[in-house]
Amino acid sequence: MHVLLVEDDQRLARVLRRLLEDDRHVVEVAHDGETGVEIATSPAGIEVIVLDIGLPDITGLEVARRVRTAGLEVAIIMLTARDTVNDRVTGLDAGADDYLVKPFAYEELAARLRALGRRRESGPRRPEPVLAAGPIALDERTRRVTVEGRSVDLSPREFSLLECLLRHPGQTLSRDQLLDQAWPFSVAVTPNAVDAYVHYLRTKLGPAARWVETVRGIGYRLADA
Ligand code: CA
Repeated sequence: MHVLLVEDDQRLARVLRRLLEDDRHVVEVAHDGETGVEIATSPAGIEVIVLDIGLPDITGLEVARRVRTAGLEVAIIMLTARDTVNDRVTGLDAGADDYLVKPFAYEELAARLRALGRRRESGPRRPEPVLAAGPIALDERTRRVTVEGRSVDLSPREFSLLECLLRHPGQTLSRDQLLDQAWPFSVAVTPNAVDAYVHYLRTKLGPAARWVETVRGIGYRLADA
């Protein structure tokens, strides 16, 4: 899933990000509430917000309220250090779907995310969850990629790149466009990273690599069938 982590404790944020990425989530991090709201309401397609209540600017409760006011269909898991009934009730009132009391074991968060993922899957189906081109199929719900029916293990960035290409068959996408898709909030990434990841992606696609075409001087394109 595409997860936004709003947590001002930089050390905790770093650890959680790594664990979430190991679990194949694509993770964005905000260290304050305003940035959190900005990312959540951007077109990046955040599916879950893991939201600390105690933030340096506006509280997590306020973040949740603003996200709900904006009408976003996003799941919110609140993190609270204060194990009191009041905070829980207020958090749920503000629009949180679930909460965890700090300190928590990462496995607890992972279990909540799995539950949310299952709930989304059993909810109204999005149209066309499987994107395909020739022998390549990408299931957006299960995040599974296959080539000729054989599973291919992609990193979250490689998955995002392939997803972006599959959504625009035959269309040339510039390195910057692909960068926006696969690294939506990283400032320290250069367009060269796109070339590197496309190289990894092609290697993993094996015989289907030729479907990802290089458009010299511009970027990449998914071959038209
Ligand atoms: Ca905090």
